[in-house]
Amino acid sequence: MNLSDQTVDALIIGAGPAGTQCAMVLDNQHIKTAIVNNAPMAGGLQCYNPYQSDWIATSYKQTGSALADIMEHNLQRPNLLYYGNTYIDALIENTSDTKSRFTVLAKTKDAKFHIHARYVILATGVTPRMGNLTHHSGFIFGPGKNITETDFTDKKIAILGGGDNAFENFTYIQSQKARHIDLYAKKIIARPDLCIGIPENQIHIGDVHINQEMVSVNDEKYDLVCVFYGWQAKYFDKLAIKQELTKNNKGYLVINGFCQTSHDSIFAIGEITHRPYPSIVQSMAQGMIAGKKIASNLSHSA
Ligand SMILES: Cc1cc2nc3c(=O)[nH]c(=O)nc-3n(C[C@H](O)[C@H](O)[C@H](O)COP(=O)(O)OP(=O)(O)OC[C@H]3O[C@@H](n4cnc5c(N)ncnc54)[C@H](O)[C@@H]3O)c2cc1C
Repeated sequence: MNLSDQTVDALIIGAGPAGTQCAMVLDNQHIKTAIVNNAPMAGGLQCYNPYQSDWIATSYKQTGSALADIMEHNLQRPNLLYYGNTYIDALIENTSDTKSRFTVLAKTKDAKFHIHARYVILATGVTPRMGNLTHHSGFIFGPGKNITETDFTDKKIAILGGGDNAFENFTYIQSQKARHIDLYAKKIIARPDLCIGIPENQIHIGDVHINQEMVSVNDEKYDLVCVFYGWQAKYFDKLAIKQELTKNNKGYLVINGFCQTSHDSIFAIGEITHRPYPSIVQSMAQGMIAGKKIASNLSHSA
C-alpha cells in the first residue's frame, strides 16, 4: 500500500462488518474511498469469534474467523485504498474546504501520512468495558479468543458481571473443567435461559471488592478473574470538529435513519451507534445504508 498523503471522497475508519460493507457499496458505486483498520485483518470483533454462527441466514455454520477471512478478501479491490495495521488517532475538520473537509493522521509501525476526505464514516466499534480495573496478569477482559485460548483445567475462576457474556462464559469455562467458578455481580441482567444450570451458591450478588495485585475478589483468591462488564464505544484521542457529535447517555453516537450523526458530513455505523441487538447483520445493514446515502449525496452535488 502507498503510504503517501491521499484525498478521497469517503474515508471509513474501521474494517469490521460495518466498515467493510460500507467500503464495498461505495467502491461499487465508483466513489473514491479509503478504509483504515487498526488490525492486521478486516473483520473486527469477528476475528476473535471462534464460534460457528447458528442464526445468520447467509453464513450458517461459519466461524467468526472464516467470516473475517471473507471480509479481508472482499477489501482487495483495485480502486479501494485499504490500509491494514493502520491507526487513526486524530480527526480534524477544515471548514473552509468542502472537498477535503476532514483530515486524519494515519499511523503505521513505520510511517505517518494524512488522508483528506469529504465524508468520514466512523466504524470503530466497541471495546470491552474495564470499570476501574487495568490490564494485569490474572485478569481477562471480554469474551472471544481471550477466553477460548485459555486453559481453565483445574483452575479456580472468578467471573465478574451479570450480563449475557458473563453467564455464557460461565457455562463455557465450566465445560473446560475448571476446578471451581464463582460469579460476582451487582445484579443479574442476563437472559433467563443463560442462567439455567448455574448453581445458585456460585452466584454472588452485591458489592464486589477486587484486589488486582492479589488476584482476589471479596478477599477470595483466584487463579484467573474474567471480566465481562459489557462494551463501550471506541473513539479517537483527538476529535477537532466544528460541532460536537451527539451521544446517548451510554456514550454511543446518535444517528438518523441514514446513519448520519449530528454532523451532516460524519456518518457512524455498527456498534459505535449501539442499536438494539448489536450484531454483524445490524452493522452490515448500517454500512450499506451509509454507503448508499453518501453515493447519492455525491451524485447530487456533482
Ligand atoms: C466472541 C464474539 C462472538 C460474537 N458472535 C456474534 C454472532 O454470532 N453473530 C453476530 O451477529 N454478532 C456476533 N458478535 C458481535 C459482532 O462481532 C459485532 O456486532 C460486529 O463485529 C460489530 O461490527 P463493527 O463493524 O461495528 O465493529 P468491530 O467489529 O468492532 O470493528 C471495528 C474495527 O475498527 C477498528 N478500529 C477501531 N479503532 C480504530 C482506529 N482508531 N483506527 C483504525 N481502526 C480502528 C478495529 O481494529 C476493528 O477492526 C460477536 C462478538 C464477539 C466478541
